[in-house]
Amino acid sequence: MANFESHNHRSGRDRYAHNDRNDRHSYRDRNRNDHGTSRGYNDRRRQERETPGVTVEVGQRFPLTIKRMGINGEGIGYYKRMAVFVPGALTDEEAVVEVTSVATRYLRAKVHRIRKASPHRVEPRDSYADAVGGFELEHLDYPEQLKFKRDIVAQSLERYQPQGFRHYDLRPTLGMDDPYGYRNKAQFQVRRNADGQVEAGLYAERSHDLVDLATCSVQMPVTMTVMRAVVAMLQDLDMPIYDEEAKSGIVKTLVVRAAANTDDVQLVFITNSQKLPHKRELLERIASELPQVTSVMQNVNPGETSLVWGDETKHLAGAEAITEKLDGLAFKLSARAFLQLNPAQMTVLYAEAKKALDLQPGETVVDAYSGIGTIGLSLADVAEEVRGMDVIPEAVADANANAAANGITNAHYEVGTAEDLLPKWIMAGFRPDAIVVDPPRTGLDATLIETILAVRPEKFVYISCNPSTLAKDLVELTHDYQVDYIQSVDMMPQTARCEAVVKLSRRQ
Ligand code: SAH
Repeated sequence: MANFESHNHRSGRDRYAHNDRNDRHSYRDRNRNDHGTSRGYNDRRRQERETPGVTVEVGQRFPLTIKRMGINGEGIGYYKRMAVFVPGALTDEEAVVEVTSVATRYLRAKVHRIRKASPHRVEPRDSYADAVGGFELEHLDYPEQLKFKRDIVAQSLERYQPQGFRHYDLRPTLGMDDPYGYRNKAQFQVRRNADGQVEAGLYAERSHDLVDLATCSVQMPVTMTVMRAVVAMLQDLDMPIYDEEAKSGIVKTLVVRAAANTDDVQLVFITNSQKLPHKRELLERIASELPQVTSVMQNVNPGETSLVWGDETKHLAGAEAITEKLDGLAFKLSARAFLQLNPAQMTVLYAEAKKALDLQPGETVVDAYSGIGTIGLSLADVAEEVRGMDVIPEAVADANANAAANGITNAHYEVGTAEDLLPKWIMAGFRPDAIVVDPPRTGLDATLIETILAVRPEKFVYISCNPSTLAKDLVELTHDYQVDYIQSVDMMPQTARCEAVVKLSRRQ
């Protein structure tokens, strides 16, 4: 599986499920079956399958016309009425494809040769775009990427059919002027290759083969500058690099996160043990060669695990956190706290959330899944009271510190799940006028949906990073709420990922 996860810390449950909004290695939901079939992952392992009159084998080639794009950005065509998913193929293209796996109701295939290319096909900037996750649409021109993102919202609604879905106002996706160089965080696995060279990058799809990323078009340039310089230092100092097979060595992952509006940069070494050999030399070189790095941390994550981050984070040099500024507010950001990956579009997303929520003076608001409090704190000047929660204690500590640092006294954050804390607050007599939810890819917990439907706050905004779980949750939510509109925002150009702000209002 690939490893260009986006919302690394949106975790708490599994899914990643890369879930992505969490800590796992993979970019895509491991057991997710996005293809709308009832069968799952196991089917893909079967080598051959018969549907009445059709036998298909892995390796078989046939011509295929791509009819549309699926939610992971793959082209979809039909072979003898079976859906065929072809990563890298675009709508209206004619290709010869080669079957790579066979399931009961669908096939997966790769492009063998394109006979007729789409006029929207472009040359990807990253040579490895077809090999690692996170670059699913780099071969599609940007205006079409934006159309695709609105379309996957429509496809998800079509699949789950929440009340009235045919009449929802799906607004055109808000994109970037320059859809490259936007990612504020690089989280790369580190390996020593067969020649003894230290490499840092992402895993190739469905494998643990590391692809060394010397350059990356979607990263903020400073993140790559720091990353490559540190890789060179690891090489020079002959640092023990973690070896997955031998389960030995120390350095597993490098994380570089940059604040776009303050120039702070944090570097985190994720290690297999407490030890960090050559620590002094390493820190001296970082201080002298990488003055842009303002914080160096170590996160300890021992042993073989699918989680990238461990529980313990140690301070090595500089500040313990970095600060990002957003719309006049300063946000302290600990290593493990979640922050949107695209600072430029973050402003757009939060402005849309604010607009949709339309909070009036005197109203109380819940910022559920709050991270470091970015959404709630930006509402605090209007609101009577803001309450928020998140499962990551460091993020909640940051959120409360951020409130204090910005002189905000009417916002409070607690550690816990939204599904536990909201009912507790309600029982204690709190009645929110408005709620904004920004859950991980798994969507809302059933208990939380029940609570929201019981409390019926007048104003309700759902920020989603996964159209599938959004559509599924809307099936329940539309019993009591109507969807006023869905505004998709492109937080992750070149990928198939889609973020959306949904304005809901209470049915009379
Ligand atoms: N609103 C924030 C963070 C959104 S990411 C922002 O815009 O930056 C989703 C957040 O949900 C993550 O910080 C994750 O730690 C948190 N989370 C995951 N499961 C949760 C749950 N069950 N209850 C509350 N928070 C949860």
